[in-house]
Amino acid sequence: MELSRRDFLKLSGAGAAGAAAAVALSSIATESVSAKHIPLDERGEETPTICCYCSVGCGALVVDWIDKHGDVHRRIEGDPDHPINRGSLCPKGQAMYQVHEVDGEINDLRLTKPKYRAPGSREWEEKDWDEILDMIAARVKKTRDERLVTTDADGKLVNRNEGMGSLGGGELDNEECYLLAKMSRALGVVYLEHCARL
Ligand code: SF4
Repeated sequence: MELSRRDFLKLSGAGAAGAAAAVALSSIATESVSAKHIPLDERGEETPTICCYCSVGCGALVVDWIDKHGDVHRRIEGDPDHPINRGSLCPKGQAMYQVHEVDGEINDLRLTKPKYRAPGSREWEEKDWDEILDMIAARVKKTRDERLVTTDADGKLVNRNEGMGSLGGGELDNEECYLLAKMSRALGVVYLEHCARL
């Protein structure tokens, strides 16, 4: 396509105007949600806490914010004084309030009991912790009994459980990871993984 000097200047002018408008709009959008635009006298109590979701351990503030009508709202903000995250939170951390409540109500979507789906079933059943822990223990023992390989092809002792794997979660802390790894090794598990590497 032929582009004259005049056409080039017209196009660059339109592009620059568009870019300027985009910058202006983005700064308006950013400012409209910025905490610094909430007058200090509308901020209520701040309670520091640590995000419950992963082992990064970001610091957060639970803020009771009072709007101009006197209504109190609760929300989660990153703690700007926390050395790990310096005020930022990832989407999980920002949604932390949903663990307990949504719009001031207890979150009825939060699971507090194990759910079990039987093989071949399309339905999830709610189970008691005691029942589900007994089921897990029985399956772990059965799998280990059936799938433990004691020696390799050369007759060397390996005690390798080839029927099980262990998948750690990002919310586990150091001590829980230590115990999980110890228990897995004791069961002969060699496939140890972590959700952060998947
Ligand atoms: S889930 Fe996100 S906000 Fe929470 S500790 Fe991990 S990185 Fe931080």
